[in-house]
Amino acid sequence: MLGLMQEWPLLCHKILDHAGIQHPHREVVSRSVEGPVVRTTYAELRLRALKLAQRLERDGCKAGDRIATMAWNTARHMEAWYGIMGMGGVYHTLNPRLFPDQIAWIMNHAEDRALFVDLTFLPLVEKIAASVPSLGRIVVLTDAAHLPQTTLPNVVAYEEWLAEADGDYRWKDLGENDAAGMCYTSGTTGEPKGVLYSHRSNVLHAMMACMPDAMGISSRDVVLPVVPMFHANAWGLAQSCPMVGAKMVMPGGRMDGASIYELLDTEKVSFTAAVPTVWLMLLQHLEETGKKLPYLNKVVIGGSACPRAITKKFQENYGVEVVHAWGMTEMSPLGSLCTIKPEYAALEGDARLDIEEKQGHAPFGVEMQVTDDNNTVLPWDGRTFGRLKVRGPAVARAYYGDAGSEQFGHEGWFDTGDVAHIDPSGYMQITDRAKDVIKSGGEWISTIELENLAVGHPDVAEAAVIGVRHSKWDERPLLVVVRKPGKEPAREDILAFMKDKVAKWWLPDDVAFVEEIPHTATGKIQKSVLRKQFRDYRLP
Ligand code: ADP
Repeated sequence: MLGLMQEWPLLCHKILDHAGIQHPHREVVSRSVEGPVVRTTYAELRLRALKLAQRLERDGCKAGDRIATMAWNTARHMEAWYGIMGMGGVYHTLNPRLFPDQIAWIMNHAEDRALFVDLTFLPLVEKIAASVPSLGRIVVLTDAAHLPQTTLPNVVAYEEWLAEADGDYRWKDLGENDAAGMCYTSGTTGEPKGVLYSHRSNVLHAMMACMPDAMGISSRDVVLPVVPMFHANAWGLAQSCPMVGAKMVMPGGRMDGASIYELLDTEKVSFTAAVPTVWLMLLQHLEETGKKLPYLNKVVIGGSACPRAITKKFQENYGVEVVHAWGMTEMSPLGSLCTIKPEYAALEGDARLDIEEKQGHAPFGVEMQVTDDNNTVLPWDGRTFGRLKVRGPAVARAYYGDAGSEQFGHEGWFDTGDVAHIDPSGYMQITDRAKDVIKSGGEWISTIELENLAVGHPDVAEAAVIGVRHSKWDERPLLVVVRKPGKEPAREDILAFMKDKVAKWWLPDDVAFVEEIPHTATGKIQKSVLRKQFRDYRLP
């Protein structure tokens, strides 16, 4: 028997309709690429998204077309996303930090039809456009007065192009399973792979993200998404914020400590989210200037493991709650958030930090398990680690143009490629990437745990642990360290600092000091490069 409730497809543009009707005057503030801070509202943003949809159709774009964006977080970028989705197109965010060849490869794989691009990236697009034959219209997100000379064909200035439409448009009638957006994983471990979000997955993910034990945002929040829209869907904030009617503050291209601080302060931001590197820069700025964070309540930190020192400083020195989060592009991207359940609410000091260091528990809409290599489900004892697998309505079931990937396997579980354990209260902790874990004499050693420990040493700026070949144990850990400027810690100092905090056989066999640790385009340590660099390293 079927239920007798209405069919109301979960479509992304309904989120913007809701914001425009229920929260019409709520502001979306952007640091524009041209320089000044500019302000709009959800009502205006919705009207401009309608115009954008209408104007794209006039250019010949059709439902299902992939339309790329290469842009910072601004209101214009949001308009582009919603306008593209509302006419049935698929927004495809490009990460400008990738190599030009990689970007061209991704655009060709997606067969992008048109491109919205910020002024910053025009020189990059000039390099690659000729090698992307599918690409037609290029819209530069500025006005005619700021449009520079360019060798590109088919270029228009956004404001003038948009002004040719009046916004008298009805969003396309779409099914909730129609494609809405696309994002390629940056390929930390291999070729980039296209993740194709649907309207339904985006809407459900946004609802999930808003829940109190997830990000917990409301119309009373002022949200600064520092995490770029081109990186893992901006952690869903471009949908969650209009869904609850939160004011948005968009940082544009400036993400240094001083620029982020300025927005946090002048716009009275209550909630923000980004990867740990951004927060290291902000905390350094605060320490140098003696400034405080009187308005900020909560910061979500993820994308890579959040060092304990960051959590501690935010909470103890600035009174800001830290929520550690884990996710991946394939999960839209949220997988877990480390908010505190009642069973841990009484914990204080280091015991609480031990919990907050974990990646957290899954919200409704994410199922999790940890298995061994034979798909045997492992116990939730907070110790036994194995392959982390997930299922849910906002988890990918295939990569674009690559239906048979082996990661989508056993009983619908997606193998995340991460290694983790889960405790009896459901708190998951990542101990490694499957490709990075060190196998010493058949036992696994978590490189992340060792790195977290090493960066706790006061003279260590950054640390990475890799496995180096060993005649007896197959592999042993080598700790690679970047020292803080002006500091000269010895190998023995660092090992002594770590000694009593991990099992004896986990302790790195040696410490190598380097000037720099290689990073990927999204700021993660590139262990494959490090491993090559230290391929012939001889342990003592
Ligand atoms: P990629 O880096 O492969 O391009 P993503 O940007 O989607 O892909 O990153 C997803 C991966 O980032 C996860 O599988 C995990 O390894 C890592 N990651 C994300 N958040 C965290 C976290 N809080 N702690 C540790 N690792 C994390």
